[in-house]
Amino acid sequence: MKDMRYIRAASVTEITDNLKKYGDKAKILAGGQSLVTLLKQRLVSPNVLIDISRVADLNFIRKTKKTLKIGALTTHRQIETDPFIREHLPILADMEKQLASVQIRNLGTLGGNLCHADPAGDLAPPLIALGAKLKLISATGARTVLAENFFKDFFETAIRPDEVLAEIHVPLLPYFGNAVYIKHSTRGVDTTIIGVAAFISKDIDTCREVRLCVGGVGSVPIRAKNAEAAIRGKAVSKKIMAEAGKKAREEISPVSDLQGSAEYKKELIEVFIQRALKAASKGGRKGA
Ligand SMILES: Cc1cc2nc3c(=O)[nH]c(=O)nc-3n(C[C@H](O)[C@H](O)[C@H](O)COP(=O)(O)OP(=O)(O)OC[C@H]3O[C@@H](n4cnc5c(N)ncnc54)[C@H](O)[C@@H]3O)c2cc1C
Repeated sequence: MKDMRYIRAASVTEITDNLKKYGDKAKILAGGQSLVTLLKQRLVSPNVLIDISRVADLNFIRKTKKTLKIGALTTHRQIETDPFIREHLPILADMEKQLASVQIRNLGTLGGNLCHADPAGDLAPPLIALGAKLKLISATGARTVLAENFFKDFFETAIRPDEVLAEIHVPLLPYFGNAVYIKHSTRGVDTTIIGVAAFISKDIDTCREVRLCVGGVGSVPIRAKNAEAAIRGKAVSKKIMAEAGKKAREEISPVSDLQGSAEYKKELIEVFIQRALKAASKGGRKGA
């Protein structure tokens, strides 16, 4: 590792001031679960490391009337074990249980996970299916982007070098809404081969709104919009879910990689979209 300046920020202002000063010569350090490996492998070599792990203002889980606000430094384990999340947004707690190991969940943060933008990351698909937004702060102000628009390419996001991801805003489930995340990997702790998140809200049996997001099959998490259109406004039946699975298979062009061939992933997309829809449409969890 080359020599670099280490700054331990004590506040959000200190983070943004340093980002303004050093720009793309600086790198934020949160839980270090991904960044330290990249540093060791010399895949990144910043001049300045801004350690944000002690900034208490970025570690919180706060409920407002219709939204759950989560600070970017909140760890995976905090989400997994939070009683409110377990009851009212169980998709997030269930997803966390399937993410890496307890050791990594104890240190890895939500902000780090999203900004690392691993295409196989488990957090992004549920957030996109739930319609979450991300609040980015710089020395000159704040802006909010839809989680869906945050991911640009393999390990690339919409965040600017002078910005820190500060908060994640997750809409609470509507009264007759439900959301699930299911993933497939060789073993529990292995890289996600496919992860599908499904959000659905219904009027009795008719689908009022649906969002489907598939991770692990492309450079970024992908909304299956043709599959959603196949279900929206219709009675949710086995036939309609099979139709949605086929649409998703047609509309998504997976990449072949170490996890499997594109053709194998197409098969997985069709099957997992149906499974996620089946599981999501069973519920009608009570909103908060
Ligand atoms: C062995 C192993 C297995 C894993 N398995 C999985 C898995 O199955 N599924 C999964 O989803 N993840 C997995 N991860 C990733 C892990 O869950 C963490 O989410 C991830 O490492 C990033 O979190 P961190 O806080 O450690 O970020 P860091 O490593 O500190 O930072 C990661 C990147 O994000 C940037 N960054 C961090 N916080 C911010 C911020 N607030 N604003 C702007 N930029 C920021 C950093 O500059 C860096 O570029 C795994 C990691 C390891 C080491």
